[in-house]
Amino acid sequence: MTYQSTNPFNGKLVEGFDEINAGEYETKLAAAQTCFETWRHKSYAERAVIIAKASKLLHDQADTFAKIMTSEMGKRIGEARGEVEFSSRILAYYAENAERFLAPVKLNPTVGEAHMESSPIGVIFGVEPWNFPYYQLARIAGPHLMAGNTLVVKHAGIVPQCALAFEKLLLDAGAPVGLYTNLFISHHQADKVVDDPRIKGVCLTGSVAAGQSIAARAGKNLKVSSMELGGSDAFIVLDDADLDLTIPWAVWGRMYNTGQTCCAAKRFIVVDSIADKFIERFQAALGALKAGDPMDEKTTLGPLSSEAALVQLLKQVETAVANGAKLLMGGKRVDRAGSYMQPSILTDIKPGNPAFRDEFFGPVALFFRVKDEDAAIALANDSDFGLGGSVWTKDVARGKRIASKVETGMMFINNIDWSDAELPFGGIKDSGYGRELGDMGIQQFVNKKLVRVATMKAPA
Ligand code: NAP
Repeated sequence: MTYQSTNPFNGKLVEGFDEINAGEYETKLAAAQTCFETWRHKSYAERAVIIAKASKLLHDQADTFAKIMTSEMGKRIGEARGEVEFSSRILAYYAENAERFLAPVKLNPTVGEAHMESSPIGVIFGVEPWNFPYYQLARIAGPHLMAGNTLVVKHAGIVPQCALAFEKLLLDAGAPVGLYTNLFISHHQADKVVDDPRIKGVCLTGSVAAGQSIAARAGKNLKVSSMELGGSDAFIVLDDADLDLTIPWAVWGRMYNTGQTCCAAKRFIVVDSIADKFIERFQAALGALKAGDPMDEKTTLGPLSSEAALVQLLKQVETAVANGAKLLMGGKRVDRAGSYMQPSILTDIKPGNPAFRDEFFGPVALFFRVKDEDAAIALANDSDFGLGGSVWTKDVARGKRIASKVETGMMFINNIDWSDAELPFGGIKDSGYGRELGDMGIQQFVNKKLVRVATMKAPA
């Protein structure tokens, strides 16, 4: 079974699910297409009734949804509840604002009048990762359903219960069958979905390899796509940073969701004059985290999402050290049951070491000491990724100047409060293309049609 719900806290298999067969696939795709034909003609107000109801149900049942997530991929319960509440806010945000975002825009041609109008394009295929099992779904369901499209979604193999819970949420909110459909499918079947002529757009959040595969397939079919991929964000600490503010955020930025966040702080680039103080305090703060049951509110270090994720991360650390990096702390699995990794810091990572370019998806911080601000910017930009990044300084104008020079899709000054329903999210380079959330997030899969009225002399 490709879809397996295993608790990474104790390694117990909770439930497995089979992939759908060809007949089930056809029924689901046909329902999504049929639903589109009526949903596209509903008013924004009619669509908003269902999406707002889904938002409310999610809020009302936050604890139930959160516990499914925690038992399935190990997210600490407080963070899990926070994710559920945020997903609820995203749905509410698009229910409230979709009509305004997609209202016709008047243009000013030299002759006559013109406007751009937005209309839905059809069934959209989403491929989503396990690290934010509901937020990722809300990020596509809120905008694309409110825009009048319908969705079929392949969620990650390790979070099938979250996938089913979200599908049920929409049905409970009154969604017609076919509006939002979960698909338990293999990668091979996913390729077939992209090829299916009923699919009009594809959005994926996941690794670079998955993005390359699905984007290539979408390109071959000339289908519009958006890709939200990995990252190796720089956390730039300047000489004038307030360490009382910076250190707790450095810990949060690396350790939130046990380090399994695309835009987590992964490369700590610290100016030499403050580097010793920074690393001493950062190491002490990481060392204070205690592994425990993610269902326990007091736990400060949860497990990774799966044993496979832990094994991969341990191997990456081993390879980094074999290529000359030094392990300042951690680097091993925690001596207890479950898929726990020690908080770790790698230093002395030189170009040529795979660690210099790779994404570390877990509690491993890469530490770099640089001589000044210019060296920090150069190192931040020496990455295949371009998702986000942050700058820490008491001089906000200086922070903004540096933010403008770092080649990423998002920059944060004295915070890494990455995501907000109103703020577009996404990257450049190997971190992908397109934006989710905010006004931009609803514009990805709509037809932008020009309509012009002008009575002109007939051409001779
Ligand atoms: P992943 O292995 O790429 O999986 C993501 C999704 O893609 C899963 O549903 C997976 O299905 C599917 N998938 C993978 N390869 C595929 C293929 N060849 N064809 C069709 N589907 C395929 O990534 P992950 O390890 O779950 O997630 C971590 C990655 O996602 C990290 O790189 C992280 O930075 C990135 N991420 C990016 C963002 C963003 O917004 N930029 C947000 C969150 C995560 P299976 O599970 O069945 O393999």
